[in-house]
Amino acid sequence: LDVTDLLHKRVRDIPDYPTPGVVFKDITPLLADPEGFSHVIRALVDRCAPTEIDLVVGLEARGFILGSPAALALGAGFVPIRKAGKLPARVLQETYDLEYGTATVEMHTDAVAPGSRVLIVDDVLATGGTARAAVELVRRAGGTVVGLSVLLELSFLNGRERLSDVVLHTLATV
Ligand code: 5GP
Repeated sequence: LDVTDLLHKRVRDIPDYPTPGVVFKDITPLLADPEGFSHVIRALVDRCAPTEIDLVVGLEARGFILGSPAALALGAGFVPIRKAGKLPARVLQETYDLEYGTATVEMHTDAVAPGSRVLIVDDVLATGGTARAAVELVRRAGGTVVGLSVLLELSFLNGRERLSDVVLHTLATV
């Protein structure tokens, strides 16, 4: 089974979540499948070879689940970007617009050493707002974003357009 087929088979649609009219892509069936989980991590890591990567930055919360095994496989460290108020030390912040209101994400000020080569990992690229904020945080810290890896790109939301200055790796597109 190729990784794109695997994602289409093991990621399920949840209608009207988190709000009416939205179809949420739920990756938990994929994570619960031992072969499926390892297959997507391997594919994610293979897509960015042979780029040298010092750090994997994972976006809360599913970017932690995917980014951690990816970091181990790449021989890289792992850095979390979290929703506001969760990290204990000094942080850099980025605020971005949602359909209704705004969201703020944070990264420890000292988490990315200047010159570090960083791969950002998340499960789904939707409008691209979260990923865009992550790119800004890494760059403000002095890191180089060498790629952004997601399992699934929701192309009808045009997130890719906000990330035209980043190398984007997507394993499947809907
Ligand atoms: P964006 O900022 O691109 O609009 O939304 C992406 C963020 O929201 C990611 O952190 C992603 O985990 C989450 N997200 C948005 N839509 C979905 C979805 O349908 N399924 C999953 N699993 N995550 C989503």
